[in-house]
Amino acid sequence: METRPQGGVRRGTGDYDLLVVGSANADLVIGVERRPAAGETVLGSDLTVHPGGKGANQAVAAARLGARTALLARVGDDAHGRLLLDSQRAAGVDTDGVLVGGAPTGVALITVDPSGDNSIVVSPGANGRLTPGDIRGARELLARARVVSLQLEIPLDTVAEVARALPSGTRLVLNPSPPAPLPEDVLAVCDPLVVNEHEARYVLGEAGDRPEDWARDLLALGPRSVVVTLGAEGALVADAGGCVRLPSPEVDAVDTTGAGDAFTAALAWRLGLGETLAEAAGFAVRVGAAAVTGRGAQESFPRAGDSLPGEG
Ligand code: ADP
Repeated sequence: METRPQGGVRRGTGDYDLLVVGSANADLVIGVERRPAAGETVLGSDLTVHPGGKGANQAVAAARLGARTALLARVGDDAHGRLLLDSQRAAGVDTDGVLVGGAPTGVALITVDPSGDNSIVVSPGANGRLTPGDIRGARELLARARVVSLQLEIPLDTVAEVARALPSGTRLVLNPSPPAPLPEDVLAVCDPLVVNEHEARYVLGEAGDRPEDWARDLLALGPRSVVVTLGAEGALVADAGGCVRLPSPEVDAVDTTGAGDAFTAALAWRLGLGETLAEAAGFAVRVGAAAVTGRGAQESFPRAGDSLPGEG
């Protein structure tokens, strides 16, 4: 499937349905009987290496669904960087905006025990070297996208620069993960701010029990709209017009890794196609549900033409 723009790319007219600005990591995974305590060495399974990082995940998820997608990220000039570029290209993502060098590719060292509990160490590497200057150098790429999607696995001043450089008429979708304090001028352009329960509680500080209350209180912080994802319960969308719940279809969940990334990518793509927030989230909960039925993150993302849970 060819999802990259063909030939002469037009400017300012939405050549890309979605531009993801974010992280790209190699996930190095070892299965262990028991995760090691301080000073302890344990033997584990063979190492497996998977492309990951929230930015890379979202770009692959969108492109697999058929969105014309570009990624703006930084990877190292190393084998992990090449793995990430290859997996993006295989999904149909335009990688012309991926910068190479400056530090080793970001890595997540993951040990998983038989109960599925894990311990993770992240080395941001090149993700931490994606600078505001890199964003200023990519203004042309920003101008070509209908929707820009951001997460917080890159420096916060880089995130803020994207929000500042956003052309008028381009929609910003932001998932504050991992949670960090967000400047008001960034919050003000989020449409929507996408949070799971953990992120909602972090952003709000004090939060009640009802997702409807979180959504109301999050809206009061300034974003144009809010989406709260609720795992197996689906999602809730809210804007000045009100609040709507979108239940997730019931599925046998195998592995929820990357579900939020698949959800956000699907949402951002459909918003760019002109759907309402509730319509786009109704699609995104089905994509999120599909993503939990398979192991891994990118490996489990559905493709265009796959029948999604809850359809038909
Ligand atoms: P995150 O992965 O960021 O923590 P959630 O756990 O809220 O986010 O999941 C994101 C979306 O993935 C949900 O809105 C839902 O559509 C889908 N999802 C997650 N877990 C399940 C599940 N157990 N059953 C069905 N859908 C799920």
